[in-house]
Amino acid sequence: MTDKTTLTIIKPQAVRNLHSGKIIDMILSAGYIIKAIKMVTLSHDLASKFYEIHKDRPFYENLVKSMTSGPVIVALLEKDNAVQDYREFIGSTNPAEAVTGTIRNLFGTSMQDNAVHGSDSDENAAREASFFFSEMERF
Ligand code: GDP
Repeated sequence: MTDKTTLTIIKPQAVRNLHSGKIIDMILSAGYIIKAIKMVTLSHDLASKFYEIHKDRPFYENLVKSMTSGPVIVALLEKDNAVQDYREFIGSTNPAEAVTGTIRNLFGTSMQDNAVHGSDSDENAAREASFFFSEMERF
């Protein structure tokens, strides 16, 4: 894994609201190459593990509940400076504060249901890639 890769998740609320197609189109139009992609439904255990770093935060249980409320689309994206560029591209955690035209600004409905996840470091991108994708899928 290099600084060319990041992992994104289109969260359940965005999938449910039929925004996946538009979000994927925006990602491709911005120059990201999709290296791997799949739709999965997270179990409570898997979602808890994925967000383990937040386990002591007050919003943790609701976040896990939201992330397990329906299918998500997980994708590995490739582009130079992927992690940092993608974080800018999706906008701030809080959709109300996200720059106009960013994915979270356009499709997020709350701080919790902010449409997409994006890895916050190269190290976490690598960890998240192996969390979701087998070696064969990550080619
Ligand atoms: P991110 O890197 O921008 O996704 O933000 P964090 O890693 O800090 O938080 C992970 C996820 O937890 C966010 O994407 C939100 O879905 C949720 N979250 C973060 N902070 C809050 C909060 O203060 N309240 C609620 N309800 N959810 C939050």
